[in-house]
Amino acid sequence: MKKTVKRVLVIAGLVLAAAVIPLVIRIATVVRTMHAMTSIETSEVVPDVFAVRERYVNLFLVRGPSGVIAFDAGINPDSVRNQMKKLGLDPVDVRAVFLTHGDADHAGGLAAFPNAAVYLGDQEEQMIDGRTARFLFIRNKPIGNHGRIRDNETVEAAGLKVTAIHTPGHTPGAVCYLADGGLLFTGDTMRLTNGKAGIFSRAINMDSKTQEKSLRRLAGLTGVRAVFTGHFGYTEDFEGAMAEFRK
Ligand SMILES: [Zn+2]
Repeated sequence: MKKTVKRVLVIAGLVLAAAVIPLVIRIATVVRTMHAMTSIETSEVVPDVFAVRERYVNLFLVRGPSGVIAFDAGINPDSVRNQMKKLGLDPVDVRAVFLTHGDADHAGGLAAFPNAAVYLGDQEEQMIDGRTARFLFIRNKPIGNHGRIRDNETVEAAGLKVTAIHTPGHTPGAVCYLADGGLLFTGDTMRLTNGKAGIFSRAINMDSKTQEKSLRRLAGLTGVRAVFTGHFGYTEDFEGAMAEFRK
């Protein structure tokens, strides 16, 4: 009897370890990735494109002929407002927010933009309405009123044309946006390391194989003047950055 109890305890311990160890490794990898992020100081990075920094993440603003539009919304509305003050820009003047996906570090600051039409990829709806968990039992929060944008759909805001490119991988409905014909906003669909594009993070992505396919699709774009990422800065050498994914 004692022997049986011992055996059961050993098996239970092994099962627990098998479940916990990969989780600990994954969390450690996420923390390491976050420390390696290279977000840009709040500033005008190229003419009429502004980076807004909130700790480890950037949202971007583009000034168009008739107002300002945003790509992602940061983490916290108050700190978004404070950062935008440094640029002399007022969040109430932002006409549209194009979300690359529904994660809290990209959608959490939405309340800073009360007058903006909000767009989210149509395949991302499942991530904010409770249908699909982000990680284990963790789910992203709902984001309030917003429109859905489809792959290849073009919307005009502040006098700028913005086209959605469905790039699943980080999340199923992740979207990159091509604005003004040549400014590409990728959110967490890629990282940039020494100017080279790569998989964002296998530990944080929901499906890195699919993300690789998305990067190959992006690599086929022509006329991109600059590419901006959510956590790893930007480059004006899109061709060079994507070379690996064009093979
Ligand atoms: Zn992110």
